Amino acid sequence: MTSSALLRVDGVNKTFDRKGKASVEALRDITLSINEGEFVSIVGASGSGKSTLLRIIDGLLPPSSGSVSVDGVRVVRPGPDRAMVFQQDSLLPWKTVAENVAYGLTLAKKPRAVAANVAERFVAMTGLAGFEGHYPHQLSGGMRQRVMVARALAVDPRILLLDEPFAALDAQTREIMQTELLSIWRESRKTILLITHQIDEAVFLSDRVIVFSARPGSVLEEVQIELPRPRDLELKRTPEFVSLVDRIWKLIENEVRTGIRDA
Ligand code: ADP
Ligand code: MG
Repeated sequence: MTSSALLRVDGVNKTFDRKGKASVEALRDITLSINEGEFVSIVGASGSGKSTLLRIIDGLLPPSSGSVSVDGVRVVRPGPDRAMVFQQDSLLPWKTVAENVAYGLTLAKKPRAVAANVAERFVAMTGLAGFEGHYPHQLSGGMRQRVMVARALAVDPRILLLDEPFAALDAQTREIMQTELLSIWRESRKTILLITHQIDEAVFLSDRVIVFSARPGSVLEEVQIELPRPRDLELKRTPEFVSLVDRIWKLIENEVRTGIRDA
């Protein structure tokens, strides 16, 4: 770990105690760090504790032991330095695109004009211009996902936490969203931690991929992705890309099998 790390996760363990049932060990001794401006993904089988870790980093859930810090400050609750985009749709159906994007700023009691201005910027950045007045039900899945990313960016967090943001999208929309996320990352200069179970998505987007074992999730390996940027979808057909995906797949193949068996 270098001293310039923006996010540090230090020896985090998490066990869920369940009334009348066996407890579930979700995470074991997770230590990782992410530098300012880095794009890091965590890949792992379903049930390997990825969402649990993200919720701990966001401050929504306390670790059983270990700690998380952002810029040297220990995380104990959600804060404006972190913004999360959840797996499931979390837009407010009775608010327009512009109101949804501005929502965090409205909650923070920013003046209306400021909130509107910021919202407009991120609506444009996420390709939603022209849809400001639409309601969530009037949008496609890909567009709703963009609104969620825009809403997260609007509060100007240090770190964007993305939990399988494209899981509900069809394959083609998903690939388009991946390239858009890269340009949003470039433009906004945010630090991003993305969780996915899709290895090719992680390799395509990231500077570094952290590979999780099956439950209890632990870090199997960190793989540096030294593919040139800017990246476009053609990259996925190059031998370098394919061999990185293959390498990570081999790392987690047994873990996925274990996961399927235990599911
Ligand atoms: P992933 O996101 O990698 O699919 P999760 O973090 O959602 O995995 O879950 C990891 C494990 O912890 C799973 O076995 C899940 O059932 C369990 N788990 C998650 N949240 C809770 C909870 N609130 N209570 C009990 N068990 C939980
Ligand atoms: Mg999950």
